[in-house]
Amino acid sequence: MKGISILDGKYAVSMDMYPLEDQASNMVYKFYDHLKEGRFTTTKCKDCGVRSFPPRVICPECYSDNLEWVDLPTEGTALAVAEQLVGVPIGFDTPLIHALVDLSGEITFICATQGLKAGELKVGDKVKIVVKKIEPVPFDGKKGAINEMERVFFVLEKVKSGGGGG
Ligand SMILES: [Zn+2]
Repeated sequence: MKGISILDGKYAVSMDMYPLEDQASNMVYKFYDHLKEGRFTTTKCKDCGVRSFPPRVICPECYSDNLEWVDLPTEGTALAVAEQLVGVPIGFDTPLIHALVDLSGEITFICATQGLKAGELKVGDKVKIVVKKIEPVPFDGKKGAINEMERVFFVLEKVKSGGGGG
């Protein structure tokens, strides 16, 4: 049975850092459906206009549940960088590089990165949101079958500077 490979076949849901992404388990499952389509989205309140991130099921400003999905920018700038050397969650490499990212001046949040060595990401560097495939989670199917739920999440990657050949 898959799950988290380091557990050698024993799936421990409480140690899984990623959410279940299907409609039965997750009220913002459309966020993950959109990620699978390559879209980075969140919810916006149709009543008061407030856009929230992460996506919500109820507007934190006016408590309306009249929300719509809107696309977010996927490119931005690293405002701060932190390198996590200990206590890195299962499934992540050490060091785990985190960045406070400003996406096109529209939204700011802390996000994990991938594909970077310590010291490689600097404040001011250009970064982009990319979709990352997560190990599928096993769940009970019909007639005792074990099915696998495909999962995705989002991480930052450094945008390599252009400039030919360097
Ligand atoms: Zn609202």
